[in-house]
Amino acid sequence: MKHIDPYRQPGTLQALAAKINDLPLPDRKINLMEVCGTHTMNVHRHGIRDILPDNVRLISGPGCPVCVTPRSGLDTAIAYARDSRVIVTTFGDMIRVPGSTSSLQDERSKGADIRIVYSALDSIEIALANPDKIVVFLGIGFETTIPGHSQTILSIKNKGIKNFGILSLGKVIPPAMELLADDPDLNLHGFLAAAHVSTIIGLKPYEPVAEKGIPVVVAGFEPADILTGIIALLEQASKGESRVENVYTRVARSDGNPKAVEVIHRVFKIVDSEWLGFGIIPGSGVRIRDEFADFDAEKLHPVEVEDTKLITGCRCGEILKGLIEPPECVLFGKECDPSRPQGACMVSSEGTCAAFYKYQGPFELND
Ligand code: SF4
Repeated sequence: MKHIDPYRQPGTLQALAAKINDLPLPDRKINLMEVCGTHTMNVHRHGIRDILPDNVRLISGPGCPVCVTPRSGLDTAIAYARDSRVIVTTFGDMIRVPGSTSSLQDERSKGADIRIVYSALDSIEIALANPDKIVVFLGIGFETTIPGHSQTILSIKNKGIKNFGILSLGKVIPPAMELLADDPDLNLHGFLAAAHVSTIIGLKPYEPVAEKGIPVVVAGFEPADILTGIIALLEQASKGESRVENVYTRVARSDGNPKAVEVIHRVFKIVDSEWLGFGIIPGSGVRIRDEFADFDAEKLHPVEVEDTKLITGCRCGEILKGLIEPPECVLFGKECDPSRPQGACMVSSEGTCAAFYKYQGPFELND
């Protein structure tokens, strides 16, 4: 007989939806944030907002690594792309994100050598095949992807490769959640924590958030996982509790993946870091340690970066903080859509504007 995972059994979603609506909730508004961009996509894809009680609101958060990369980071990447000695390697989503005066796609159309890769390791082949060039990998990502960046550096450390560097744009999530937990304009009552990030870092890094009175629940990406996570958050919120809880136990362990965390810390140190919309968040980014400076792109091959300019009209920063929804941006569905994105939130496959556009269409807010 064919095995069906419990979270995919027929009737599971209906039962979970019914449970949510039967919960004895307080009358007040309950604001929950799904932190992760993949959660955001699946919330919209499966219409999860539509089955929640009227007083429960799901707010999308900053869990899209491309989206939170500050414009200064984009401008640095573009400066590398403009340098004829450099080959830029990057994940695909970064190509179309606008910087201050250009994008990597624009630079490529003018002749820059920019190549899409699936991992930092892919860039090593390119470096070996192009010894007269410097290969700069754009190291965006959260705790899920940073171990791969570390492992790449560890694997080439003693191999004599002198023409490869990583631009450190990686971020760690919990400090941003702590900042959001304190935001009185958001008035959050719970966080649905990012599933994949939690498989690496475990539960402990979320404790400072729970200590601020905001429950944190780690949930997977299936619709049943998301509904189970929302139920756990609502149960805590209605009882006035705030704990870190894991409902994704089939994958995420409470201690995470200590080996992956150790690999991150061997190569990178935790530093203050700028996030689009947030400014500098203490302890929220990574930088290559001095002992691996040969692979730090900014030390291996410094470039001059143009002054960063704001993109008029784009409200990605407020969207990443959950302060507005995409239809509140006057450009949404007009000057800005997936074919002509004005900001990273519309470019990325995990961006909130892209999720709204794909699954709800370019409607007016009051439609
Ligand atoms: S709709 Fe476009 S312009 Fe508006 S916030 Fe989103 S990405 Fe920026």
